[in-house]
Amino acid sequence: MDAAALQRAAASVGAAPQPAPSPRAPHAAGEGAPPIQRDRDGRAETVAVPRGTPVRDAATLLATLRALGLAHITTLTLTRNRTVLVSWRGARLRVHQGFAAAPDHVLRAIVRFVTARRRSERAAAVAELRTFPLPEAPARAPRRLRTLPEDQPLAERLTQLHRTLNADRFGGTLSDVEVVVSRRMKTRLGHYALRRGDAPGQIALSRRHLKRHGWAQAAETMLHEMVHQWQDETGQPVDHGRAFRRKARELGITPAARRAV
Ligand SMILES: [Zn+2]
Repeated sequence: MDAAALQRAAASVGAAPQPAPSPRAPHAAGEGAPPIQRDRDGRAETVAVPRGTPVRDAATLLATLRALGLAHITTLTLTRNRTVLVSWRGARLRVHQGFAAAPDHVLRAIVRFVTARRRSERAAAVAELRTFPLPEAPARAPRRLRTLPEDQPLAERLTQLHRTLNADRFGGTLSDVEVVVSRRMKTRLGHYALRRGDAPGQIALSRRHLKRHGWAQAAETMLHEMVHQWQDETGQPVDHGRAFRRKARELGITPAARRAV
């Protein structure tokens, strides 16, 4: 899809007025569900839309979802939100535009996410949506972050943690990287910046994440970013694809772990 098409698709589309939802509609107007968010560090899998896949505009996507059983949604907006993939409130649904090219089984999961009556049902729909590869979130934060002087002791502790995890979990195969503590990262827990030329990669951890969730969670985020470092240093694409998930499982971390800070 070219930029102009993306712009057009990003417009909000209102459908024709619909009959009032039946009394058995799963959610009253105004009610919503926690939005589906991107992974721990804002990366999504690399987009891999097969050739010839129809890319729907908002109106077509809404019509398709309604045909699949989305009864009480009357407005659909395609978004390019960095973190929220799907959210809805009342009769308004917001869907990341990457889903415009999704096959029916993924669209059915969007329908189930909205119409689910039980938490488990919704969780299953979310899990299914997460398997669909979306374009990488555009980088908004500067690639190279800096540690403030007052956070330097924390950064040193994290550098030591990186060394320990490298030795224990990666057989010492990873390079030393710069580890920084960032006060600017508000929604992401961690970030790995790719190597550039001779410059090593950089791992940034959110200070807010460290303070709120503690050392064990921070270590899990560190391992997540170290999997990206391993991808980078072994010439693989840096994403959350199959290789990432396999390595994450090997290390005992949740492949899709995420948490709003
Ligand atoms: Zn990641």
